[in-house]
Amino acid sequence: MTQLATSVKLTLNNGKTIPALGLGTVPSDDPSDVKDQVITAIKAGYRHIDTAWYYGTEKYVGEALKELFDEGVVKREDLFITTKVWPSFWHSPEKSLDISLATLGLDYVDLFLQHWPVALHGDENGLPAQPRDKDGNLIYDDDPVSGTKFIDAYHSLEQILDNTTKVKSIGVSNYSLHKLKQLLPKVKHIPVINQIEYHPQLPQQDLVDYAEKNGIQISAYSPVGSNGAPVLKLPLIQELATKYDVTVNEVANAYHILQGRSSLPRSSNLERIKTIVRLPSLTKEELASLYQVGVENPTRYINDEWGYGLGFKWWEGDTLSKDFD
Ligand code: NDP
Repeated sequence: MTQLATSVKLTLNNGKTIPALGLGTVPSDDPSDVKDQVITAIKAGYRHIDTAWYYGTEKYVGEALKELFDEGVVKREDLFITTKVWPSFWHSPEKSLDISLATLGLDYVDLFLQHWPVALHGDENGLPAQPRDKDGNLIYDDDPVSGTKFIDAYHSLEQILDNTTKVKSIGVSNYSLHKLKQLLPKVKHIPVINQIEYHPQLPQQDLVDYAEKNGIQISAYSPVGSNGAPVLKLPLIQELATKYDVTVNEVANAYHILQGRSSLPRSSNLERIKTIVRLPSLTKEELASLYQVGVENPTRYINDEWGYGLGFKWWEGDTLSKDFD
C-alpha cells in the first residue's frame, strides 16, 4: 500500500516536528475560497497550513480553523501553522505577527518566517506592501544588494522567540546562498527553515547543501511551478506517476518529502486537494533523475520584482548551482 504524505513528519533543528505536506494559501482567485480549501485539506489529513500577512487570506484561514475547532475535527495542538513578515514590515515584525495572530484567531504560530531578505519602505502598519515612487520603482529602506537591515529584521524574530509565547520556531524564506552566509554568523538561533521555490527544474544544490549542512531544513514552495503547473508537464514526472499509479502532483510532492523537505502545494480545486496525499516510494535513482532535469536546464517561475525579477547580484550563483563568493 502507498504510504500517505500526510502522515510524514520532519524534525527541525530545535527538535520540533513539521508535517511534510503543507497546504499553500496564496489566493488563486477570490481569497475567501481559501476557507473551503483549508477545511478540505484538514479533513483530508493535512496538518500543516502555510500562510502570510501578504497573501490577504489569513482571515479565511482563521474562519476555517475556528469552524474545525468548534466542530471538534482537530485541535490547535495537532496543527502546524506558518505565517510570515513581509519586507515592508521589516521594522516591526512583532506588530505584523500580532496582526496575523488576531486575523487567524490564534495565540501562537508554529513557525514565523521572514518572507524575503530585503527592506521595503512601509509605514508603521507595513503599508503599502509594495511602496513605489512616481516612476513606479519600488522604494527600499536600504540597498537590496548590499543592505543589512534584513539581518535586523531576523534579530527581531529572535527576540519574539526568546521573549514571548507567540511563536514556536522562526525561520527565513527566499534567502539566497549569499544572504544566508551573511546572516548565519550574526544569529543566536539558526533559522529552522529556508522556504524557497523548489522543484525538479530548480535544484539550487549549493544553497540546499549549505542550508542542510547548517541544520536549516528546506521547505519547497511552488512545488509544481505555480500557475499553469509547468513542472507537471515534465515527461519524467508523468512516467513516474504512471509507474506508481499516483497523480503527477503526488510525484512532485514526493520529490521533496522523500528527501526530508516539506512541500507546499496550493490548489483551488477541492478534489485535487483531497486526492494528492499519497507518497509514492520513488527510488534513489528516480530522485536523482528528477534532479538532473534542473541541472541541465534550471528554470525559476517566481520572478518577483523585489527578488529575482530585477536580477539582483545577490541571486547570482544560486540558480545555476555556482557559488560566487
Ligand atoms: P503551486 O506550485 O502549488 O501551483 C499551484 C497552481 O498549479 C494552481 O494554479 C493549480 O491550479 C495548478 N495545478 C496544480 N496541480 C495541477 C494539475 N494537476 N493540473 C493543472 N493545474 C494544476 O503554487 P504556488 O506558487 O501557490 O506555491 C504554493 C504555496 O507556496 C503558496 O500558496 C504559498 O503558501 C507558498 N509560496 C511561498 C512563497 C514565498 O515567497 N515564501 C512564494 C510562492 C508560494 P488549480 O487551482 O486548478 O489546482
